[in-house]
Amino acid sequence: MNIKRNILLNPGPATTTDTVKMAQVVPDICPREKEFADMMKGLRKDLLKVVHASPEKYTSVLFCGSGTINIDICLNSLLPAGKKALILNNGAYSTRAAEICEYYGLPHINLKSSIYEPIRPDEVEKALKENPDIALVYTTHHETGTGLLNPLQQIGTLAHRYHAIFVVDTTSSLGMIPLDMEKDNVDFCMASAQKGLMAMTGLSFIIGNEDIIKQSKNYPKRSYYCNLYLQYDFFERTGEMHFTPPVQTVYATRKALDEYFEMGEEMKFARHKRVFEAIHKGLEQLGFRNVIKREWQSGLVVSVLYPDDPNWDFEKIHNYCYERGFTIYPGKISTTNTFRLCALGAIDEKDIEDFFAVLKEGMEHYSIRIPVQYNQPE
Ligand SMILES: *Cc1c(COP(=O)(O)O)cnc(C)c1O
Repeated sequence: MNIKRNILLNPGPATTTDTVKMAQVVPDICPREKEFADMMKGLRKDLLKVVHASPEKYTSVLFCGSGTINIDICLNSLLPAGKKALILNNGAYSTRAAEICEYYGLPHINLKSSIYEPIRPDEVEKALKENPDIALVYTTHHETGTGLLNPLQQIGTLAHRYHAIFVVDTTSSLGMIPLDMEKDNVDFCMASAQKGLMAMTGLSFIIGNEDIIKQSKNYPKRSYYCNLYLQYDFFERTGEMHFTPPVQTVYATRKALDEYFEMGEEMKFARHKRVFEAIHKGLEQLGFRNVIKREWQSGLVVSVLYPDDPNWDFEKIHNYCYERGFTIYPGKISTTNTFRLCALGAIDEKDIEDFFAVLKEGMEHYSIRIPVQYNQPE
């Protein structure tokens, strides 16, 4: 089968390999069959390897839903009665976590800081010192909205020093930036299949400390569908997801994981870096400016400032590129006009070079000045 190859420069779902696409086409199967349960068992075990988590201490739990379901589940399931969550908020995805706390009425501190700078450990420590009832520290590893990376190891050390668990949204870094649960002091991390693993949408997973999950059995039950212990316990007893799994996506994820291990963590990380460098090179040649300081960037997402050109129209440029097989994405900063170029997915340097040829052509087509102009000095 010949499937058109689109280059997705949006922050996931990412460009997938044809072999992963085709892995979804399988004979019909009832997901309550042992054959399917066995596959999920292997998948749960192999997911641990991606974050170097020992199966003696950690487990992974699968859910049917987009990545946000993980944030919802971790927050509502892992907070003991009478305790507080500390949300370290320097971007749109941590804001989502704070909103989830509000929706569930969870006691929490929404510790906001600049979306242009990584979280400062001294501010985290101050909050932990002042609030001994914090039992859960939460942050986003890679703030996909801006491309900013937060320092996990330091925050995790502080969380543990003050006897709190450390929950991290790693949705847009897992399987791309190497992560080691133990060394990085992470108790819970999460992702969905369509991002770093380059599979399909619909399957999400949480990897975490098994003892803490067992303890959470006695925590307040705030959701039925989105309860971590309930799903974990069902998996342990039956090998199955409590409710209907996204069957075809599970097959695709199995295949994607095989391809992940075939390539290896280091090689894959190197490829993402290569793509990221190619994005920067292309942007520089056209005169575009970044929003986040280079040394704080994740290496996966570049936030680009709109030029001050009366002919610049993101929508038109997007459509021009889209019609030619390249998808670019608007920014997620409410105060500044930006767009994003991302280094996720099964793409390489050459795809980025092809993209910039099309982008340049599009800019010329719409008479946008090259190099692009900005009114403010840098
Ligand atoms: C993509 C993403 C999510 C999940 O978003 P969904 O739209 O629910 O898939 C959560 N956190 C981060 C950091 C993300 O990049």
